Amino acid sequence: MALIQYDNGNITVPDDLELPYIEGDGIGPDITRATLKVLDAAVKKTYGGRRSVKWIKLDAGEESFAKLGNYIPDWTVEAIKLHRVAIKGPLTTPVGKGIRSINVMMRQTFGLYANVRPVKFFPGLPSPLKAPENVNITIVRENTEDVYAGIEFEKGSDGANGIIKMMKSDFKIDIGSDAGIGIKVITESASKRIMKYAIKYAIAHKKNRITIMHKGNIMKFTEGAFMNWCYEVAREELGASLMDEQELHEKYEGKVPEGRILVNDRIADNMLQQIITRPEDYSIIVAPNLNGDYVSDAIAAEVGGLGVAPGGNIGEGHAIFEAVHGSAPKYANKNIANPTSMILAGAMMFSHIGWKEAHDAIYAAVEKTMKDGSLTQDLARVLGSHALGTSEFADAVVKNI
Ligand code: NAP
Repeated sequence: MALIQYDNGNITVPDDLELPYIEGDGIGPDITRATLKVLDAAVKKTYGGRRSVKWIKLDAGEESFAKLGNYIPDWTVEAIKLHRVAIKGPLTTPVGKGIRSINVMMRQTFGLYANVRPVKFFPGLPSPLKAPENVNITIVRENTEDVYAGIEFEKGSDGANGIIKMMKSDFKIDIGSDAGIGIKVITESASKRIMKYAIKYAIAHKKNRITIMHKGNIMKFTEGAFMNWCYEVAREELGASLMDEQELHEKYEGKVPEGRILVNDRIADNMLQQIITRPEDYSIIVAPNLNGDYVSDAIAAEVGGLGVAPGGNIGEGHAIFEAVHGSAPKYANKNIANPTSMILAGAMMFSHIGWKEAHDAIYAAVEKTMKDGSLTQDLARVLGSHALGTSEFADAVVKNI
């Protein structure tokens, strides 16, 4: 088996690589088929047979449950553990009932603590902004805790009743007896770890602005503490190259000089308006789990929507790449969905394993395809132009590689 090796931060990738994939639910099979076609073409074109990928399909989600009575069998988890890197389609999670999210479970199982979501405008895409070309923002979202830690108790359950009783007896705090209870967890270690990742990412990608998004005015000891811990890391890691907003405006007229990195912060509600009114002022947004999820969909909407937003879930030695969007069940099996998010997630995956040429070839081909006006219905309907199906769009990208 041709496997990726990982040793103390160093990744070694064989040229005849085996990579696992999960098709996912809803539109998952349609966009996965389209994506693998594009990824294969990029590898073939850039490496001319010197490198290849053998894809291994893993069971997960609704198809797996129907076939095996299990949403994610152990061998799927083991295969990702062994192969270290995987790509997945979206998986459905029922709202307010049913199974907990398999996506969240995988992020926690493999310690995929950084959710990286680069959002970039491609010429030709519809946008509600006047100058969408100013949008080039990467969200670095903490991926393991916050309200996503899954500590929730249903109204009337032993857990909810126990907490309500304890809050009254130990802290004299009265919570209504009809409350469902969720616990928000933000640790110093996870906050510092994600800020370190954001700084490393900024340096590697030559980005010079990092904005900490938080709601620390209200949640002082979770989101406020997140902000403080991020600033602490910035001071330790960046030293003299760190700059604040006061220096930026007083000495440099708002332009970050060469060799310096601006670290500032925005309260979450303000952040959500700033990304619309002045996106050019933001480059990397580092955020706790929930804020990061909200803001990335909002920024994606500025450059055409969820159909064009990729993401990577990255940890120490493991990584899973996926679209930012979900399974959009109403478009399932109709050859309608936009596969761009997953295609770009595949490009991110290649960049992660050091196959930079394949990454660049995919981005260039997607850009050319969109500039030519070849778009799926989510984008074409806004422009009133002819829409390509999922597979026809993938063919157009392949042609442009
Ligand atoms: P969604 O699946 O992202 O879809 C929301 C809307 O976004 C769609 O109705 C569609 O908008 C548009 N859209 C999303 N992806 C598209 C694509 N590839 N091409 C064209 N349009 C696209 O969000 P949701 O309806 O809130 O969630 C559905 C399920 O997905 C839920 O079970 C949720 O838990 C799950 N989910 C999974 C993941 C994951 O696997 N990582 C992430 C998020 C959500 P229009 O209706 O305007 O056409």
